[in-house]
Amino acid sequence: MLEIKNLHVKLEEEDKAILKGVDLTVEAGKVHAIMGPNGSGKSTLSYVLSGRDGYEVTDGSATLEGEDILEMEPEERAAAGLFLAFQYPVEIPGVGNMTFLRTAVNAQRKARGEEEMSSAEFLKVIREKAKALKIDAEMLKRPVNVGFSGGEKKRNEILQMAMLEPKMCILDETDSGLDVDAMRLVADGVNALRDAGRAFLVITHYQRLLDHIKPDVVHIMANGRIIKTGGPELALEVEERGYEHLLAEAV
Ligand code: ADP
Ligand code: MG
Ligand code: MG
Repeated sequence: MLEIKNLHVKLEEEDKAILKGVDLTVEAGKVHAIMGPNGSGKSTLSYVLSGRDGYEVTDGSATLEGEDILEMEPEERAAAGLFLAFQYPVEIPGVGNMTFLRTAVNAQRKARGEEEMSSAEFLKVIREKAKALKIDAEMLKRPVNVGFSGGEKKRNEILQMAMLEPKMCILDETDSGLDVDAMRLVADGVNALRDAGRAFLVITHYQRLLDHIKPDVVHIMANGRIIKTGGPELALEVEERGYEHLLAEAV
């Protein structure tokens, strides 16, 4: 599904290398987790995959189902099936949440050569999915994320994901700032979307989210590289012993 090879990224504005040869393959149907200390480049990896400005790829490649995503515009990446839920979801004043979602869903359908969703169908689907995430009708009418609590923003991102039905979902620290109940809702939302044709990359600093979203593969990132890959037990090892000994091993 997603194949990243030897990815090197630096800041556009300064000569500062951030990703220093990331290799990562995520297969369809799998959930991969990336853990790592603060500042190791986890968010940068998700930003670069989403096409955010300010970063320059100096070497390597990233493909989604064999297609070079680094050459695509951000909206083309979304149409190709890539979805990113960010650590800090953006607020969009003046744009109703429901209108935003409907526009996004139909833009994506159009890009895929599919028919638009009718208003009635859209309403039915969004109500169903919002209910499962405990998002009430009032939250659907408010401007996107404006005045939403941290937990509401994260749930709203999972709703966006559920509506867009992407192939490759990347969640960057979707658990940060969430209480246990909100985290469980987010995890349940993700688990409900697990599917043989879809893959997840769950980026998290702490192990606790992985108690609820059971990963198939765990990667440890440090200093701009994946330094270790293993099964779910690797997350438990981090929980017990911290990152220090893994960093020491990798040197
Ligand atoms: P993580 O998500 O693993 O905590 P980040 O990807 O946010 O790590 O950051 C990796 C490193 O790159 C950090 O040292 C951070 O300070 C630096 N960095 C990332 N983006 C910028 C930026 N726009 N300007 C300056 N430094 C940046
Ligand atoms: Mg960070
Ligand atoms: Mg981060």
